[in-house]
Amino acid sequence: MTKFIRLSVLFLIAIGWSGFAQAQAPARAQGQRLTVATRVIAPFVTREADGSLGGFSIELWRVLARDLNVNFDFIEKPNVTELLNAVASNQADLAIAAISVTADREKSFDFSQPMFDAGLQIMTTAERAQQGGLAGFINMIKSPALLEIFGILIALILLPVPFIWWIERRQENSIASGKTAVGGLFNSVWWSASTLGAQAPGMPISPLGKFLAVVWMFVGVLFVSYFTATVTAAITVKQLEQSITGPQDLVGKKVATTIGSTGAAYLRQLNIDALEVAQIEQAYAALLDGQAQAIVGDAPVLLYYASHGGKGKVQTAGAIFRPENYGILFSSGSDLRKRVNESLLRAKESGEYRGLYRKWFAPETSDAN
Ligand code: GLU
Repeated sequence: MTKFIRLSVLFLIAIGWSGFAQAQAPARAQGQRLTVATRVIAPFVTREADGSLGGFSIELWRVLARDLNVNFDFIEKPNVTELLNAVASNQADLAIAAISVTADREKSFDFSQPMFDAGLQIMTTAERAQQGGLAGFINMIKSPALLEIFGILIALILLPVPFIWWIERRQENSIASGKTAVGGLFNSVWWSASTLGAQAPGMPISPLGKFLAVVWMFVGVLFVSYFTATVTAAITVKQLEQSITGPQDLVGKKVATTIGSTGAAYLRQLNIDALEVAQIEQAYAALLDGQAQAIVGDAPVLLYYASHGGKGKVQTAGAIFRPENYGILFSSGSDLRKRVNESLLRAKESGEYRGLYRKWFAPETSDAN
């Protein structure tokens, strides 16, 4: 009897445990509604004309949700920090946008398998990098070295005028003669300026004038070489000052980035003056209207803009200086992660991922995964 009671108790405990375990087990049964946090950041999350969400990450999530047979609702957040908060506070079951996997985030969250190769890169305006065209030329003329050389030019033109005029003024048809003294002076200035530019329009008649002319022709040769060297140096310095090819060139410049992003954290680390905006479009506007001299952001996001809306206006500068991966974000220990991972890998194996990649990114660029 006692044996029977003991067995029954064990049996009851076993049943109770299995019921308890079921209640605790993967809470997300098939068909359950998930809340998915996201934020607009083209081309990963875009706002379509009808107000709905689109973009690579949204379409990828739709593929995964269909495969997992789960229903979901999107909730939108204004920046990455808010995306992380939504998952941390269980307001959302997961977040998908352009979220970089970092060591710091991994401490408090779980990430899916990498869903996209990304990394930090710099973007500048197109002319800032090339300094060509009229804008570049005007900029160069405004350089102090060039203004100084124009001053020297005027001084050098005027310097021999009184001498040559005094020596040659009485000579018949000379370079310094004129109907009036003013006319004679004017001709002397003309002669001096032309000789300095190595194009002497005529030669003095008196021996002293000839001597002065020879000296002045040599001064002209020296001046032209000096002029050429100074202009070349001024152009080079201007180009060096303005070319941005890597993070080291960002020090002392105003750099736009998105709030709470890995780009913002990077700029903070380097003590670079950052303009943090919610939407990446605001960073593009700040760059184009000169409020910022560069953007630090996610390479695929920047490259997409450079080849679409910002084509001809902006360009990326230098290569990716910090490689990163995007992942889908879950709370730490989430039971969803494994299923989403399996589904993501299935999408990669089936070619569905590749199809989406092709749709959103140029087919000729190398595949991300
Ligand atoms: N990849 C960036 C990050 O996770 C986010 C870019 C953005 O959405 O602003 O920090």
